[in-house]
Amino acid sequence: MSNIMPDLPTYAPITCQPWCQYGDGHTSEEPGDQMCSGIERRVPLYLTEMTNGACPGEEPRWAHDFLTVYPEKLFGREPTLFLGRGELPGASLTLDEARQVATELLFAVTQIEEQL
Ligand SMILES: [Zn+2]
Repeated sequence: MSNIMPDLPTYAPITCQPWCQYGDGHTSEEPGDQMCSGIERRVPLYLTEMTNGACPGEEPRWAHDFLTVYPEKLFGREPTLFLGRGELPGASLTLDEARQVATELLFAVTQIEEQL
């Protein structure tokens, strides 16, 4: 029996972050592309229109829009936090930037709640 799949190249493993959802050293990724990522956490956005998550030619798969957050770390760089909206391009935040966003959100929530 022959193996029709070519062997994929492997690379030296990196040391994964404790929060990496894979933890395998990313040996199938080329050096420079090896990146740890944590488990994605989603917050549904019930006040925005539902989105069609289907690819062109597929049946529509309507779903609530959402915000997504997960930690990531490209080899050789400091960890960052990815913040995205649905399938749109998002932003990578430093930990200080993420704390500032969280602080500003809580400040705005407190402003509204204190007036209730
Ligand atoms: Zn990893």
